[in-house]
Amino acid sequence: GNANLYALLAAGFPQDRQQVAIETPEQTYSWNDIEAMSGRLASLLQALHLPLGARVAVQVEKSPMALMLYLATIRAGLVYLPLNTAYKAAEVEYFLTDAEPAMIVCDSKNLDWVTELARKTGTTHVHTLDQDGNGSLAVAAASQSDEFQTMSNRPDDLAAILYTSGTTGRSKGAMLSHRNLSSNAQVLKEFWGWRSDDVLLHMLPIFHVHGLFVASHGALLAGAKMIWLPKLDIDQALQYLPESTVMMGVPTYYVRLLADARFTREVCRNMRLFISGSAPLLTETFEDFKARTGLTILERYGMSETIMLTSNPYDAALGERIGGTVGQPLPGVSVRIVDDKDGNVLAGTVGNVQVRGPNVFAGYWRMPEKTREEFTADGWFRTGDVGQFGGEGVPDNYLTIVGRSKDLIISGGYNVYPKEIELVIDEMPGVNESAVIGVPHPDFGEAVVAVVVPRTGETIDVEALIVALKSRLANFKVPKRIHVVDQLVRNTMGKVQKNVLRQQYKDL
Ligand code: ATP
Ligand code: MG
Repeated sequence: GNANLYALLAAGFPQDRQQVAIETPEQTYSWNDIEAMSGRLASLLQALHLPLGARVAVQVEKSPMALMLYLATIRAGLVYLPLNTAYKAAEVEYFLTDAEPAMIVCDSKNLDWVTELARKTGTTHVHTLDQDGNGSLAVAAASQSDEFQTMSNRPDDLAAILYTSGTTGRSKGAMLSHRNLSSNAQVLKEFWGWRSDDVLLHMLPIFHVHGLFVASHGALLAGAKMIWLPKLDIDQALQYLPESTVMMGVPTYYVRLLADARFTREVCRNMRLFISGSAPLLTETFEDFKARTGLTILERYGMSETIMLTSNPYDAALGERIGGTVGQPLPGVSVRIVDDKDGNVLAGTVGNVQVRGPNVFAGYWRMPEKTREEFTADGWFRTGDVGQFGGEGVPDNYLTIVGRSKDLIISGGYNVYPKEIELVIDEMPGVNESAVIGVPHPDFGEAVVAVVVPRTGETIDVEALIVALKSRLANFKVPKRIHVVDQLVRNTMGKVQKNVLRQQYKDL
């Protein structure tokens, strides 16, 4: 058979191709439209006779056409390379230099500097695609046939390069194969009980695994309709939630929905599944959500290199959804916790999270050294996350992510896990949320520092907070300094940027 991802997805489209597949506030698109639009763009790509494995870099605003361009690239057997729309010229230059794409598609407002960069880095084809679907890409595709025979691919052929978010350092290109994407899509379809009558409220960006793969593949493979919105807009979300059954979001989406009194049980009356990921969901958000809607957010865990790894159960027969955990390894995915020092596999204690499975990537683009470092001799991928199976009130097969190994603080020779301290700080009166970091210290190596956000309208007495923490934590864990701020710096995926905080507070 054909291992091309699109062939798998298309097999899930409904019999009746006239049905609505994508709805935007302006327009609807049928399953026929998806096939014709992606077919036309795939014909265009094929007519360029790009070499096998050529990359198509895309930095455009979210739109149905942008999704079609993704599907077209897959259909044509080329390698899709999405770029965060927030990246500026200097950042895009790094990706073009590193990935050497054959084509870049950009928003027409960026055409001048993108053309300049393309010339500099040897990218031959430059096209524009605007949020409304217009641009040189649409013009060039107009004369192409909308009939396209999806290319035949082998499972290991490269389908996409996803650059990591760059939370802990420079972004690395994760090479994902058709098998990686297909296997994960199929597993999630089962695990989350996708149905053809689902309606997915899609508000995530599509330059990242969460929105591009997890959300879109889920709906396409199930033959389910998507309500396609460019981003989270609370008014629009509230308008479309009553007709939706599934929503995926980063934790900040849920925080923002809960901050609006119009977000009620009634608004969620048809919802069967709210999924959260990309960053840790606070237990408080999980609880507040349950109290407000009567529904339980399902938190899952994954990354650019692996797509999805673990998930809280959807099916109650597999257990309940436990806030603060990321659930169980998905079928076919193996997860183990390993001791940093001796490489021994641990049970019930905190250590490095290592994974393997058909979803795990082939390696980092043009970084053979880094790739070797991040895989163990027996073929497990070192995720860089620190976690634990089980724990207080948590079954042994549930994983909790404690943080990233790069965020681990070593103070006076002691290991300090920021998450443990953050959880204690977050429980203190007047505290909304916190981030704990290590900064260089002449005596301790690193000193523990907390950055704390007060609840709206409340103030934090730093002295009193430190006294309270001293009664709850060993001295070496108590922050030497507490900085009160209005909000934590986050990237578009809702990840707290601790590297930025470390920079900011290193000399204070
Ligand atoms: P970089 O690798 O460049 O530093 P990044 O790891 O943030 O950036 P992504 O691949 O986008 O880039 O994010 C994956 C990471 O997101 C995971 O390794 C994990 O730390 C975090 N993550 C994802 N889902 C969850 C979750 N549910 N709970 C806690 N952390 C999560
Ligand atoms: Mg990472």
